[in-house]
Amino acid sequence: MNIIFLGAPGAGKGTQAEIIADKYNIPTISTGNIIREALKNGTEMGLKAKAFIEAGQLVPDEVVIGIIKERLAKGDCENGFILDGFPRTIPQAEALDSMGINIDKVVDIEVPDEAIAERMTGRRVCPDCGASYHLVNKTPAKEGVCDNCGAELVQRKDDAPETVADRLKVYHDQTEPLKGYYEKTGKLRIVEGLGDVADITANVIKALED
Ligand code: AMP
Repeated sequence: MNIIFLGAPGAGKGTQAEIIADKYNIPTISTGNIIREALKNGTEMGLKAKAFIEAGQLVPDEVVIGIIKERLAKGDCENGFILDGFPRTIPQAEALDSMGINIDKVVDIEVPDEAIAERMTGRRVCPDCGASYHLVNKTPAKEGVCDNCGAELVQRKDDAPETVADRLKVYHDQTEPLKGYYEKTGKLRIVEGLGDVADITANVIKALED
């Protein structure tokens, strides 16, 4: 099954993508993770993306389209995949269509802006192993320290309050129109993203299998 997860940054797409990827035994492709990895490794693409990502802006379409083309050509996508964070603009969705890739379902996870802002500004991540925590909802055993590897937790630059407001604006202006784009294809399913993770997962599975 070829699946797209839509939704604002911080709506819980990543968490659901991981759970569903496990269940269907297909890979999750997160353009955000690919870009952050490139940034960490100081590659040319990472350097190109740095200013955009840190300002909460979208990386130019041609860069992310190139990333996705390369990634979808890999053998592990043959039996399906989950796109988490791509497409984020209409031109990206059109590029995906023109690659001749058939999408089975588009699941939009909806969370109100205030809840998103609370989730993102409270998020803390491990710079070494990538584990994610939250000041209120998912605290590590020892404050400020990663449970897995003992590194000191940090706030992602793009999770700072002023950047979060910009990211939400970018989402509403550039990504939300994709709902209309996919609604026309009959593949769009909307899932409420507030509440218990297990309940949300059950609704995502229902949406995928209806
Ligand atoms: P994420 O972790 O998915 O919120 O992505 C983090 C950042 O990576 C975004 O704020 C963008 O700067 C960039 N990014 C990720 N995916 C895309 C995309 N499909 N198009 C443009 N920029 C992206």
